[in-house]
Amino acid sequence: MSADSVTVRLLALMHRQSNVASRTTLLGLGCPARVIDAALAAGLLTCLRRGLYASAGADLDQRRAGTLGGRLTCVSALRRQGIWAGHDPRLHVFLSRAPSPERLAAASLLGRDPTQRRNRTWFEADAGQPRIHWSRPSSHSVLRPADTEDWRTSTLDSLRQAMTCMDEENALAAVDSALRLGFITTDDLDDLFGALPKRLQMLYGLIDPRADSGQESIVRLRLIRAGFRVEPQVPVPGSSALDLLIDGLIGLEIDSNQWHGDDEQIRFDFDKTLRSQESGTPCLRIRYWHVFGDWPRTLRTITRAVEDARYMLLGREFAGRGGQTWHD
Ligand SMILES: [Zn+2]
Repeated sequence: MSADSVTVRLLALMHRQSNVASRTTLLGLGCPARVIDAALAAGLLTCLRRGLYASAGADLDQRRAGTLGGRLTCVSALRRQGIWAGHDPRLHVFLSRAPSPERLAAASLLGRDPTQRRNRTWFEADAGQPRIHWSRPSSHSVLRPADTEDWRTSTLDSLRQAMTCMDEENALAAVDSALRLGFITTDDLDDLFGALPKRLQMLYGLIDPRADSGQESIVRLRLIRAGFRVEPQVPVPGSSALDLLIDGLIGLEIDSNQWHGDDEQIRFDFDKTLRSQESGTPCLRIRYWHVFGDWPRTLRTITRAVEDARYMLLGREFAGRGGQTWHD
């Protein structure tokens, strides 16, 4: 086999490892040591730290975590998988020993191009001091280690780290999201919650993978805590399901920029609002800003809409009884 084809095989192997792999992993996959060394000498692989290599496709998050001597975890690992990970823009790294001050300073200088808006495919962390997740080997319970890679912790372990790192509503949204996307199953929940602190156990009963988005999970939790009865994904005749039905009276649609931008989708969304009203369920439609930028007003508006709907329902029942008072 020619040297070129051997190199191509090595780079294909690196690609399958998401562009970062340890020497041990590459040797275990059958790559000869001389091929690895030749690729390093030729600049096709770079050494992030002793025994950990990156090929050209490795992104900044992977490189920063690797040079610190750790692996991506928590929100930095979840976000790149498309799982809800809140809004913390820092790099979250799992370490078992402290990096040198020089490496920490160098990693802190690197980060996302601030002119690029973060989205599902542009997930790199901001520059600045990383959020370090420490664990001593004796106390570290790795969940589903087979899913672990040389550059990130397993999905279940990343989720465990994130649920203790974020607030409760984002923690719930993350586990809903991981279930909905199929990264974990309901069979994993006992292991996950068994590794979580007591203060988070009450989230178990609130999990609902029917939630279409992290925003929807967060709004559902906020409304439950405000005393409402909330039902997700309720069918609308002639359209898709409502995101949430509140107290059986008011529908709530929560739009994200990702799915609600083009004309066709906007027409569909408005049509759903009309069809919901036509079938007797008034519907409010909110966006990201109303959840994260102006929630108090949003909650007041929802509360008013539910009260008005209840009042109208009572009025209809009263009229249906021939105008008799409740005391007749
Ligand atoms: Zn974290």
